[in-house]
Amino acid sequence: MDGKSRSPVRLFTPGPVDISKQAREGLAAPVMHHRSDSFRHVLGDLLERLKLAFKTEDDVVALTSSGTGAMEAVVASLFSRGDRVLVPAAGKFSRRWAEISEAYGVHVSVIDLEPGESPSPERVVAELRQTRAVDAVLLTHCETSTGGLTDLRSVCQAVRDFGRWSGKRILTCSDCTSSLCVDELRKDDWQVDCAIGASQKGLLAPPGLSFVCLNADALARMEASDMPKFYFDLRKYYHGMTEYPFTPAVSLVCAVKQSLDTLLTLGLEKVWAACRSAADGLGIVIEAAGFRKVAAHGSNAVVAFWVGDADADEIARILSEEHDIVVAQGQQDLRGRILRVSAIGKSRAEILGFARAFEATMQRVGRRFVLRDIEERLTAALEGSRLWE
Ligand SMILES: *Cc1c(COP(=O)(O)O)cnc(C)c1O
Repeated sequence: MDGKSRSPVRLFTPGPVDISKQAREGLAAPVMHHRSDSFRHVLGDLLERLKLAFKTEDDVVALTSSGTGAMEAVVASLFSRGDRVLVPAAGKFSRRWAEISEAYGVHVSVIDLEPGESPSPERVVAELRQTRAVDAVLLTHCETSTGGLTDLRSVCQAVRDFGRWSGKRILTCSDCTSSLCVDELRKDDWQVDCAIGASQKGLLAPPGLSFVCLNADALARMEASDMPKFYFDLRKYYHGMTEYPFTPAVSLVCAVKQSLDTLLTLGLEKVWAACRSAADGLGIVIEAAGFRKVAAHGSNAVVAFWVGDADADEIARILSEEHDIVVAQGQQDLRGRILRVSAIGKSRAEILGFARAFEATMQRVGRRFVLRDIEERLTAALEGSRLWE
């Protein structure tokens, strides 16, 4: 949103991302007391705005943790001993749902997907039919380890229809940490029962806050849960709303509120379109350098690409040391095999800057990529990312 006062290092990583000027201003304000009316007011405002970001009428609560804390709070608060969840797993983040559930003694059925593959409604329903007794399906809107986007609308619809047919209400929970304010997301229209988000991605704020949004059926599960928990007991937050059980990260609340204000003023649909345009631009650059994207149905949050016989470490090192651009490596078994680049919140000028740095880097590693050959297509694709200028 504001190129000039940023640090020279640019985070082209899918979280954390470079923060907005408004977030920085929020951080710099004097710390408010969390039991003061003025803080309650700011927090209340933030929670109302988050409802607009999730496109929901359901109440949102904020937790002092990174996104994983919200995932853990959901597992500990919505489920009971002996429950069973279904997890379509296509990468590190979707697998995390399974790991957390196992840690709490929840039975887990996993659908193993290829990197970049999105779970289809048919595959999910086939598994529900076979497994029986599934209480919830734990989804990942954007699988940030590969860029794969889940079609939440059709998967949640299929889960509901199956539940109606089998006479059992199966909850859908979606981790929307990297897609919130980045990809189209309509929690209520798409009938997502539980959605989570975090501060350090599309909200253009620092890491440290996470969000949970539950509908009436999810709230009923919360009230019935017999799982042991304390700090991450969502009942404490839902019963208190703007009167928090513990000291919240007040400065982060101010930062996220101010950043989100700006995004909503620009218009959420326009922000999604700007992120789409930026991701398309990155895709053009990366494919022109001869790389293949990991995900066929990709999120706007991150473009992951197979490096093939190129050296992922070398590319990341040159971008960082010579161009002050940080990109993300593959995680776990994808380390060294892919690289991940994110243009969340980046202006057209910043993405063109990335393209020039990528061209120079490709020359250094002996690959043919001439920016001039794609310049016209690239600038046309980036038209939508003018929003940030
Ligand atoms: C970033 C992210 C998280 C949260 O990771 P933290 O390091 O705990 O913030 C969770 N899920 C997805 C899909 C993410 O992209």
